[in-house]
Amino acid sequence: MGMNYDIIIIGSGAGGGTIAHALADTGKRILIIERGGFLPREKENWDVKSVFIEGRYNPEEIWKDKKGKPIHPGTHYYVGGNTKVYGAALLRLREKDFEEIEHKGGISPEWPLKYKDFQPYYLAAEKLYQIHGQRGEDPLEPYDAHPYFKPPVSHEPRIQFIHDKMEEMGLKPFHLPLGLLLNENDHEKSACIRCDTCDGFPCLVDGKSDAEVICIHPALKHPNVELLLYAKALCLETDRGGEKVINVEVDRDGKKEVYTADTFIVSCGAINSAALLLRSKNDRHPRGLGNSSDMLGRHYMCHINSAMVALSTTSNFTHYQKTLGLNDFYFDAPDWKYPLGHIQLLGNVKSDMLRTGAPPLTPSIALRAMANHAVGWWICSEDLPDPNNRVAINENNEIVLDYTSSDEEGHHRLIKKLKGIIKKIEPSLFLTQRIPIEGVAHQVGTCRFGNDPKTSVLDTSCKAHDLNNLYVVDGSFFPSSGAVNPGLTIMANALRVADILKKEHL
Ligand SMILES: Cc1cc2nc3c(=O)[nH]c(=O)nc-3n(C[C@H](O)[C@H](O)[C@H](O)COP(=O)(O)OP(=O)(O)OC[C@H]3O[C@@H](n4cnc5c(N)ncnc54)[C@H](O)[C@@H]3O)c2cc1C
Repeated sequence: MGMNYDIIIIGSGAGGGTIAHALADTGKRILIIERGGFLPREKENWDVKSVFIEGRYNPEEIWKDKKGKPIHPGTHYYVGGNTKVYGAALLRLREKDFEEIEHKGGISPEWPLKYKDFQPYYLAAEKLYQIHGQRGEDPLEPYDAHPYFKPPVSHEPRIQFIHDKMEEMGLKPFHLPLGLLLNENDHEKSACIRCDTCDGFPCLVDGKSDAEVICIHPALKHPNVELLLYAKALCLETDRGGEKVINVEVDRDGKKEVYTADTFIVSCGAINSAALLLRSKNDRHPRGLGNSSDMLGRHYMCHINSAMVALSTTSNFTHYQKTLGLNDFYFDAPDWKYPLGHIQLLGNVKSDMLRTGAPPLTPSIALRAMANHAVGWWICSEDLPDPNNRVAINENNEIVLDYTSSDEEGHHRLIKKLKGIIKKIEPSLFLTQRIPIEGVAHQVGTCRFGNDPKTSVLDTSCKAHDLNNLYVVDGSFFPSSGAVNPGLTIMANALRVADILKKEHL
């Protein structure tokens, strides 16, 4: 057996990458275990067909839905995890998201910690990921005395026009907080080139604040940090008493290897972290590791998401489009007392993206003309936690995603509201697509944190209630999903847990 590490971090995405960065300067011997490799930098990074239609960067792995039907998950196994392709819209949850909220379809539960507990870490995550934004514009943004560290990303004329029209209607559109390595005043100093292939694409010029660029590369400069690639964690083994994890078994390019450490931090993403712990069941933990509550894998949430393309007669020459957000209907609307959700622009709409939704023989020239007149929107509503929505492992050791979405009335109302607003701006046609079960981008909730070991998997330090040295630091800990993209909360929480580890254990 090889050396014993102080800390093993499994997964290098938003959670794992961020905590690796935060712990790197402790001098502790840290091993990051990542099932993927570095995402190759190649022309296909920006090729719509390769990325969106052929799924070049998606895994071949197949999961099953509750009926045993195959799911080709829209996820990414690389250093940096899903942040390699994310849209980098990095928003804080609202203060009220940490409280109990009544929805038409049920209750969004209270968190054991509050906004004030996360606030310093949100700020630190905004600094680390170099987020651009403008405090005070988003009417529901939680308070912070400190401004964003980078100025807001400017709207191009077409988007500024939409922004101004929205303001004329009394709405409060805002500059979307974005993690881009962008300097609009000095192009020499800007890695980001404001291109039209960002949201959903890897960045060929490393101009996006992803976990590889921002966290893993700097962490690896420390001699005490190592990264093991193409190493898929298969299971965690505990000591005889089942009180602590002693090692992790990995499949490294087809070979089984075992790595030992004093502290284990699982951060494989909400679905794979639950799967890893479920697969690690043993005599002491017969339902899966840390699952005395039977909550492990349950309460899977993924947001109720739709993508909408608005087509008008106005040409859209925008290069970088994802600059505007709208939260006016986040918690309610004049005609609806329950939450509706969050609206943001999508990245640029490309003709090959429209192909999947168009009749089979639609000529490319028609699709190109459509794309040149399109503005894409992302409509995101809260998904309520339901114990029956769960990650499980079937008899073939495959991941099963048993999921039925919560009440969607608020979501449909939000889509209708947005269509009404756009129609007031200009006559438009709409193509709307509800994101299906394969769309696991916003996965959270499978190891929720809480004070009560009977109803939660993790305690408020994100340590498993049942084990002394097992932490889960990714999207798994969310007790509710809110309706903003989860990335920033995952990063902030990773910084919070790093602080706890530094103060109490290292
Ligand atoms: C197309 C797209 C756009 C998005 N846009 C946004 C956005 O604009 N804003 C936002 O906030 N969020 C966005 N997201 C979501 C965001 O990327 C995720 O919320 C975030 O990356 C999740 O962080 P995580 O640490 O939970 O998991 P991930 O970032 O997915 O990291 C998990 C890591 O664990 C590794 N891993 C998994 N299983 C194992 C195993 N068994 N052994 C070893 N390693 C393993 C994976 O390879 C991966 O590197 C987007 C996601 C996608 C797919």
